[in-house]
Amino acid sequence: MRRVSIGIYGGTFDPIHWGHINAANQVQQKLGFDEVRMVLSARPPHRTQPIVSASDRFSLLQLALQDQPTLYADDCELKRSGPSYMVDTLLHYRKQAPESSIALILGMEAFNGLMSWHRWQDIIELAHIVITDRAGFNNQLETKLATYVEPFISTDKTQLKLLTHGKIYSQPVEPLAISATQLRQLLKNNEPVSQWVPDASLAEIQRHGFYS
Ligand code: ATP
Repeated sequence: MRRVSIGIYGGTFDPIHWGHINAANQVQQKLGFDEVRMVLSARPPHRTQPIVSASDRFSLLQLALQDQPTLYADDCELKRSGPSYMVDTLLHYRKQAPESSIALILGMEAFNGLMSWHRWQDIIELAHIVITDRAGFNNQLETKLATYVEPFISTDKTQLKLLTHGKIYSQPVEPLAISATQLRQLLKNNEPVSQWVPDASLAEIQRHGFYS
């Protein structure tokens, strides 16, 4: 029986932008995942708190993904209380789909921060990790982390589907040079952003005056 493969793409999405969607789509297509779940970090534990509420960020995410057939807006971290730890999200999916291949998709700058994550060593016991490029960031693997991850690294993408978890694979993408931080600044300055945000989400941002 064919193993179902699920990508998990986490983010604060404050707000969602084409950089996220483009990277998620490229990974899904290049690795042939059945679906990618875009998991909104409701209460991100490792960064400054978001500007817009979790439920409003989730509405923007849903609007952004309405025309994306393989990307799903996922509110599992909204439904939990307490800090939104990725390890809890992966435990949730592992329990729901014990036989599925699950891959956490991270930009290299996010992956380089892995050692500061809650129960970070458990993550590779629950999922694969797929690392993508991020424009404007250093895409080199940090030396400290390199030693730890070395035994898990694979250059064979077929293993991501054959195994349920435990491999770290680098998937180059053509990243878009945008971040939510830059986007919030552009919105605050009333500068054009339509090239960076799906129309439906932008209309909602403007209707509520988010980030202005
Ligand atoms: P912020 O600027 O508020 O920190 P962000 O744009 O970096 O936000 P997040 O919402 O925190 O994005 O999402 C984090 C995930 O999205 C990380 O895995 C990060 O590498 C990835 N990501 C964000 N922007 C891009 C982009 N332009 N291209 C590729 N990956 C991206």
